Amino acid sequence: MATASGRHFLQIPGPTNVPDNVLRAISAPTIDHRGPEFRELVVGLLDEVKPVFGTTRPVVILPSSGTGAWEAALVNTLSPGDRVLCFETGHFATLWQDMARGLGLTVDFVPGDWRHGVDPDAVAERLAADTAHEIKAVCVVHNETSTGVTSRIADVRRAIDSTGHPALYLVDTISSLGSIDYRHDEWGVDVTVAGSQKGLMLPPGLGFNAVSDKALRASRDAGLTRSYFDWAPILDANERGFFPYTPATNLLYGLREALRMLDAEGLPNVFARHTRHAEATRAAVRAWGLDVLCLDEREHSGALTAVLLPEEHDADQVRRIILDRFDMSLGAGLGKLTGRIFRIGHLGHFNDLTLAGTLAGVQMGLSLAGVKVDPAGVAAALQRLERP
Ligand SMILES: *Cc1c(COP(=O)(O)O)cnc(C)c1O
Repeated sequence: MATASGRHFLQIPGPTNVPDNVLRAISAPTIDHRGPEFRELVVGLLDEVKPVFGTTRPVVILPSSGTGAWEAALVNTLSPGDRVLCFETGHFATLWQDMARGLGLTVDFVPGDWRHGVDPDAVAERLAADTAHEIKAVCVVHNETSTGVTSRIADVRRAIDSTGHPALYLVDTISSLGSIDYRHDEWGVDVTVAGSQKGLMLPPGLGFNAVSDKALRASRDAGLTRSYFDWAPILDANERGFFPYTPATNLLYGLREALRMLDAEGLPNVFARHTRHAEATRAAVRAWGLDVLCLDEREHSGALTAVLLPEEHDADQVRRIILDRFDMSLGAGLGKLTGRIFRIGHLGHFNDLTLAGTLAGVQMGLSLAGVKVDPAGVAAALQRLERP
């Protein structure tokens, strides 16, 4: 029996709930994308977007989902046959390396168990062995949305540096940007890939590439075919406050509003809020007597928590019951985790009581699905939420 009144609980790890003021900003009349008013919006935005990436360098804004921004990062920096180093942290890392192969790159895909992030020692080992410097890029997914495991981006940077290897460092922050601490410049990332519909609290439709000077230099010689996603004409038009094509005008209004909200809360506070909600969620999962998928205490995601069910239960059945009875959407297990886990998104526009409601719905749903859980789970989370 579906609940028709009250708000739907959208607790998947993206797209996330869009705040009302962002929705209002987007609902403004569309303006001339070659006129003075638009130019003013773009000139402001291109600066206002930088702090959330932790960069002072250019950020390319694309009318695409995150997948388009993945492609832009690869085609602008690499040439056919180039070797790239990727790590099997989960479903999204797998899709990104599939794309790299499809584009004509040679991928070294380091196997993983989907319960750990990228091992910095493995990065150092692979790069140290590549004395001919055939590897042109290291690709890492910061927050593996399919598993709730974050990779340690600064540690991977140190591992790259320890070998003196010149490979570019490409990082997918599609589900971490604006939720989990991230620093493009300080961590020496060459291309940061992001999307609008997760931590940035916008609808889907914008992709981002934050670009280092080194990546910009690499783009001049990069030989992969590119056209729509070519940085050069975009950066050139951006100089004058425009785009080489019709941009997603109304989403840019929303972006301005979302960035103002993040700025008003303060990024360190935003990150601490996500960390705290993740801790409360893990307290619930453990008190229920279930396992969090992530196995390394240093790698728990602030944006989502993946809950592993005992072998005999179907996680998709649990999600169906929760949707039917409580009108709440949870993330499905993806790839080889299908049916084994469900994912609780606690990122973006979110607060203590949204989490309390979410966990109450999960606890009731687990119980209705016949999964034996200790009802102390929600209480354990509430106890955590009583503290700052
Ligand atoms: C959502 C997501 C993607 C894919 O982004 P789309 O916007 O669906 O194209 C890629 N990587 C990660 C880590 C994601 O969370």
